Amino acid sequence: MIEKTLHELIELIKKRDISAKEIYKEQIKVIKEKNPDLNAYISLIEDVQSEESGSLFGLPIAIKDNIMIKGHKTTCGSKMLSNFESIYNATVIEKLEKASASFIGKTNMDEFAMGSSCETSCFGPTKNPWNKSRVSGGSSGGSAAAVASGLAIAALGSDTGGSIRQPASFCGVVGLKPTYGRVSRYGLVAFASSLDQIGPITRDVKDASLLMNIISGFDPKDSTSVNIEVPNYLESLTEDLKGIKIGVYEAALDSVSKEIALSIENAIQTYKKLGAEIKKIDLPHIKYSISDYYILACAEASSNLARFDGVKYGYRSNDESIEEMYVNTRSEGFGAEVKRRIMLGTYVLSSGYYDAYYVRSLRLRHLIKMDFDKAFEQVDAIILPTTPTDAFKIGAVTKPLEMYLSDTFTIPANLAGLPAISIPCGISSNNLPLGLQILSNTFKEDILLKVAYAFEQQHDYYKKIPILE
Ligand code: GLN
Repeated sequence: MIEKTLHELIELIKKRDISAKEIYKEQIKVIKEKNPDLNAYISLIEDVQSEESGSLFGLPIAIKDNIMIKGHKTTCGSKMLSNFESIYNATVIEKLEKASASFIGKTNMDEFAMGSSCETSCFGPTKNPWNKSRVSGGSSGGSAAAVASGLAIAALGSDTGGSIRQPASFCGVVGLKPTYGRVSRYGLVAFASSLDQIGPITRDVKDASLLMNIISGFDPKDSTSVNIEVPNYLESLTEDLKGIKIGVYEAALDSVSKEIALSIENAIQTYKKLGAEIKKIDLPHIKYSISDYYILACAEASSNLARFDGVKYGYRSNDESIEEMYVNTRSEGFGAEVKRRIMLGTYVLSSGYYDAYYVRSLRLRHLIKMDFDKAFEQVDAIILPTTPTDAFKIGAVTKPLEMYLSDTFTIPANLAGLPAISIPCGISSNNLPLGLQILSNTFKEDILLKVAYAFEQQHDYYKKIPILE
């Protein structure tokens, strides 16, 4: 039962073969059994929605621990917020509640969503269910590992530079980052506000569409959410790709493992077979994406995280003087990666360096966006690898710069505000999943989902679920 998708379970509930309550009970039981080892959840929420109406019929969803559910803890994987209780609901939570979702727990993540491996969480890493010596990816590693292992049917994550797509790829599930402005960020703890988006992590593309139908749309509480109509994404799922043009950026394949390059070649063949036209495209500035992102994301983080000062909320150090309290709260409350980024961000925003780093990075961001604008004049979608490698070993990547390279192919979509999805597309020789990334133009999630669905129907990678002993 817990290996089924949302849409399969909805059908069973409609036929009265099973109730949401039974599913919820079974899910909690499995989590209690398996989570102590996998560490996908930080906390559990044990209150099932009784009302079995709404499009989700009471089915349980897991939520990344940087999205607020009123009355429950939101820790962001940080000592700074380890006792913080949310005082309001994020808009996505309100929307899910209206669709009769239940919430089952808050999932583990890199501290304040900064990382690519879930190892910077103050609650310890989430293991990869395919091989427990490997990382689950990050920062939404808890959500991806939970969905991959049967500890959740579906989950929400957040993606600033790849945090939905990279763990989805490492764990063999589907992860979608929507267009910037498509899903409200109200109630998501801010990391880098001009890049952050909430999105679904699911077992298949149909479930991603189903959740996108629920969480998308304008929200007056988020001034960057966009007031344009949301199509019914389930209606865009067809296998016929005639007339669809797919762009391939060949230079991307030079910097990935042979297996990943091969999986992309295979995807191109699948798309040709489905009737799509394949076109070569050029994205001359995306090679600068990592440098650009780590200046902009750190700059925004240094500003956003200034609120965690021991006065307003969260952890407070035990000091007599206010000066010591400010300093020690932050040095004790934040982990090393968060401190590194706050310092880097403060540096690039300082008066002597603002123009040299921050302003130049903004300009470069615009050039990257223009590369995509040009490409989308010729194609409807672009395919890229999600990651340069399969899931690495826990503890193996110790240099920050090496870790940052893991986001080489995911960051461009955030800088350009584009929607992008990662879907399973193969298994590596280490017996670990590989991900195919598809990007489309802004607010064209319907095309993205269609192109992803058509691929998925040709393969059964998405049906593979690791069995936890
Ligand atoms: N791994 C990237 C980082 O460390 C992206 C994180 C994210 O998308 N939240 O910043």
